Amino acid sequence: MKLCFATNNPNKIKEVSQLLGEKFELLGLKDIGCNEELREDQSTLEGNAQQKAEYIFDHYHINCFADDTGLEVETLNNEPGVFSARYAGPQRSDEDNMALLLERLNSSDNRKARFRTVICAFIQNQKHFFEGTVEGEIAKAHNGNQGFGYDPIFIPKGYSQTFAQMSLAEKNKISHRSIAVKKLVEFLKTNS
Ligand code: IMP
Repeated sequence: MKLCFATNNPNKIKEVSQLLGEKFELLGLKDIGCNEELREDQSTLEGNAQQKAEYIFDHYHINCFADDTGLEVETLNNEPGVFSARYAGPQRSDEDNMALLLERLNSSDNRKARFRTVICAFIQNQKHFFEGTVEGEIAKAHNGNQGFGYDPIFIPKGYSQTFAQMSLAEKNKISHRSIAVKKLVEFLKTNS
């Protein structure tokens, strides 16, 4: 089965291809001739994932899916959430985003947070949602240099290291994104 992942991120394509196996041919946006930046201007992760997947389904009539991820910090009313990439401004700087988050949590003892990934898929004309979360807490300072985004300040529950101190393989075993992707893969394998 041909399936489009509405992303231009080759790392994401590689990660999901490995999980899908040979029965599926995973195509990125460029592979289906889509060279546009897809809009994601909704107010929720679900809305953004659906906006991107629906655009591809409507215009290219192909089985497809899209994802959106946010970091939800309990004491900040689940901010930055859907604004995670541009929390500190449109420059989308990981350093600025982390600095702002640490500043806002400065006086807080409650540092509970979670990453949440939502996938929206259009398969045989039907819309489906899949979600993956990983609970944890925000460290007091940066640690580690692996990964990306907020990894240097996120310590998953049950661990003493940040995501950025783990190898990619180790992070992928427990990450929000891999949990959501595994749910999608399970669905595809049992429904195709
Ligand atoms: P996206 O929806 O995958 O593009 O993620 C949106 C934003 O959430 C990214 O720009 C990062 O700031 C943050 N983010 C998403 N996934 C991760 C992760 O696995 N580790 C750290 N930050 C992440």
